[in-house]
Amino acid sequence: MSNDLQEFLFSIFDLTQEENTIFREAVTHSSNGILPNNQRLAFLGDSVLKLIISEYFYRRHPDWNKGKLTKLCGGENESNKNFADIAIKLELVKYMDIKNPPPAYKTNETLNAEALEALFGAIYLSRGFEETKRIALKYIIADVEQFKDDDLGYLEWINANSHGFVVNCNRQPNPNYLILHLASCNTITGTPTNGKSWTLDYIKICSLDQNELEKWAQQQVGGKLKHCPICKP
Ligand SMILES: [Zn+2]
Repeated sequence: MSNDLQEFLFSIFDLTQEENTIFREAVTHSSNGILPNNQRLAFLGDSVLKLIISEYFYRRHPDWNKGKLTKLCGGENESNKNFADIAIKLELVKYMDIKNPPPAYKTNETLNAEALEALFGAIYLSRGFEETKRIALKYIIADVEQFKDDDLGYLEWINANSHGFVVNCNRQPNPNYLILHLASCNTITGTPTNGKSWTLDYIKICSLDQNELEKWAQQQVGGKLKHCPICKP
């Protein structure tokens, strides 16, 4: 994991005694049978992350009503899975102190979701809300590339990332039309079928990771991806 989070973690361990203690607590798993473990921080971090996500959706989508906001950012199962996916991608468990790991713990949803929550609980206590928000949004918001009025950029992307994924959608993305393709699908490569442009009436959202596109569809459009029947991603 050669990224900001790792550097950030290491940098914190050089800091004050108080921070040292709180981050050690964040990486101590409850199976070790010692207290304090990461459970209380996971409880706190869960609330902090949900507040950050709620504020993000509130500001990003002035047109979403309470029901839609609740459905898309308030569901316990949904956010657990989301937090677990992020923790798994960051390989957070590698940095945890786990004496009696449950089976398949590296992909265990609860363990990984709690690992992320506890880490953010510790970041919040140590660094305050604004810094926690900055770091959280970087990891939680979908990491995708969007091509609009940029056929050249789009074609370069799919040529360089032929094993990646592409969502074809309307210029103003609409939950009813979000089609997921393999980047190699012949319906989204070569010469545009309408003879015009790949990124004009319809635009392209690209990523190497299908999960990021699913996250994008949910976060930015409030919809789910439909899979192309031709390339069957
Ligand atoms: Zn396709």
